[in-house]
Amino acid sequence: MSSYARRRHELSKWLEQDELDLFIVSSRPNLRYLTGFTGEGIGLVSASRAVLITDRRYEIEAGEEASDCQVVFAEQGHLQQLASYLAELEQPRAGFESQHLSYANYRKLAELADAADLVPAEGVVEGQRAIKDDTEIAAIRRAAQVVSEAVPWVIAGLTAEITERRLSLRLREAILQAGGDDVSFEPVVAFGENSARAHAVPTDRKLAQGDVVLIDAGAKVEGYCSDMTRTVVFGEPTRKFIEVYKTVHRAQHAAMGAIAPGAVAAEVDAQAREVIDSSPYEGSFGHSLGHGVGLEVHEGPKLGKASEEVLAAGQVVTNEPGIYLPGWGGIRLEELVLVTEQGAQLLTQAPYLEW
Ligand code: ZN
Ligand code: ZN
Repeated sequence: MSSYARRRHELSKWLEQDELDLFIVSSRPNLRYLTGFTGEGIGLVSASRAVLITDRRYEIEAGEEASDCQVVFAEQGHLQQLASYLAELEQPRAGFESQHLSYANYRKLAELADAADLVPAEGVVEGQRAIKDDTEIAAIRRAAQVVSEAVPWVIAGLTAEITERRLSLRLREAILQAGGDDVSFEPVVAFGENSARAHAVPTDRKLAQGDVVLIDAGAKVEGYCSDMTRTVVFGEPTRKFIEVYKTVHRAQHAAMGAIAPGAVAAEVDAQAREVIDSSPYEGSFGHSLGHGVGLEVHEGPKLGKASEEVLAAGQVVTNEPGIYLPGWGGIRLEELVLVTEQGAQLLTQAPYLEW
């Protein structure tokens, strides 16, 4: 059985529980997860079959990637094809992804396939995707190695007057050179005061002596993402830089120790937050501690203040506390880890600053 067939088999157990005859998959990463197909299309999964509806643009990919699915090439649009497929069944109960099928398409489908009972479902395949299998872990591991190589290389080549934009291009190049198929998101490169923005977009700001340099990047390998952040200083660090850096590092370390199967995500987040909130930088950690990473760079589980999700072995998550001080700058340190029975296993491996 292929890993795709295995995943579909898992999904069909859930279908049975919810008394659904089939599941309509319209999210692209979910479709890839269940069929291997990387193009645009709609999947139909039931206990006994897997159908991929796409069009002739993807004839080669569909044949190669979704070889164990029945491939149907739509002549008049994917939705139309889906409706005629549903019409052949007897009043099917069909689950659909309410987070991904647009309202307009839902209405169109309901009209075209009026005998079908369309049942909204949320996060079903996403829930499955949160626990990675061995093939997925291997790809994420490679994507993590790529970014772990690229970021220190770019840091070692920092020169005065380089712009954030230029450095971000260099980083992209380094990621491809290190073996990444692509970047997993637009790299964040922020100098000086710009690093106080957690989601900074590279500008023409030039690097100057004493600047904080925050680099957040990721690679994609075989569709799987990595995500890592390092913050350094260009020139000599100030006492404040060292103090903030150490606080963030301690926060990360505290959370790292709490990552284990059975841990509640909010409690892992709290470990890091407590370190920062009991320092002079109380309240300066304004985002969640982390997120799952896989086919998408942001997926489940969420590691946040209010996240009641329970960690499990096989999840891949980030641990990324930060301290952001408007006008001064920000320091974030981010690692990608695999949740194992023994706790957090580091997937990213780039050096930290030491004093
Ligand atoms: Zn990141
Ligand atoms: Zn992240």
